[in-house]
Amino acid sequence: MNCIFCKIIECKIPSSKIYEDDKMMAFYDIHPVAPKHALIIPKTHRASLNDLSDQDADIISHLMLKIHHIADLMGIKDSGYRVISNCGDDGGQEVEHLHFHIIGGEKLSAKIVS
Ligand code: AMP
Ligand code: ZN
Repeated sequence: MNCIFCKIIECKIPSSKIYEDDKMMAFYDIHPVAPKHALIIPKTHRASLNDLSDQDADIISHLMLKIHHIADLMGIKDSGYRVISNCGDDGGQEVEHLHFHIIGGEKLSAKIVS
């Protein structure tokens, strides 16, 4: 499968890793939209939120529960941050491996869509 994020998991493409365990990985986005911008991905390939089923509950809940820990490692847990997952064409999804953006490090726009 020609998936860039699977290649990052397999260390075939370098990344600026923040956190990794058996189920997930977090690394800094190469084109940050804010002073702090990371991506969280499951190690099991899923194309998007649309690709999830009940069998994925453990992985996704694990990933969600780790967000504050990753935000802490990024130094933005207490100042605050935003978590986004783009899904499909209208959602602006470019990489078809489910991921959650963690964005912070500055006061973000009050509007999610400008
Ligand atoms: P999305 O538009 O939600 O699919 O977001 C994909 C994100 O992946 C974008 O913010 C890209 O900057 C980021 N990205 C693409 N390739 C890499 C990479 N090799 N390392 C880190 N981030 C990447
Ligand atoms: Zn993948």
